[in-house]
Amino acid sequence: MSDCCTKKEQISESNSSELCLSCNSKGKKVKIITLKSMLKPTILSTLNTNSSHYFCSSKDCDVVYFNTDKKTYLTSDIKVSVHQKDNSFDSPICYCFGWTKEKIKQYVEKGLTSNPLNHIRENIKENRCGCEVNNPQGSCCLGNVTNYIKNLS
Ligand SMILES: [Zn+2]
Repeated sequence: MSDCCTKKEQISESNSSELCLSCNSKGKKVKIITLKSMLKPTILSTLNTNSSHYFCSSKDCDVVYFNTDKKTYLTSDIKVSVHQKDNSFDSPICYCFGWTKEKIKQYVEKGLTSNPLNHIRENIKENRCGCEVNNPQGSCCLGNVTNYIKNLS
């Protein structure tokens, strides 16, 4: 679990993406532990752990996960808000260390916080990140945070 941010793309083999059943964009394969952590209890009790699951990051698509059995899990089925699909400023981009859009904005526009990227990197270095269970996309947030900062500045 601790190597989610250091070992790059370990599950990205040739068949690691599938098209979302709803919006048709490419979904990224996620580990079953991510769904176990993210799904609400009543939904979790319907999970087929033998199926391969994919994360859809499309902004306008309500599907968060889908699997090879053509089953989908919607934003309302998971415990946290998915920042890719949620415009509110209190939704986190870095789920492990609590960097919400609001907090990142405060850094970029007013310098009110420490540098989010440095802060996240320091924690990754200390092996504290747990993206597989904290982040609905199941992988490191650094790319998302970097892009968000770029778009703000
Ligand atoms: Zn989709």
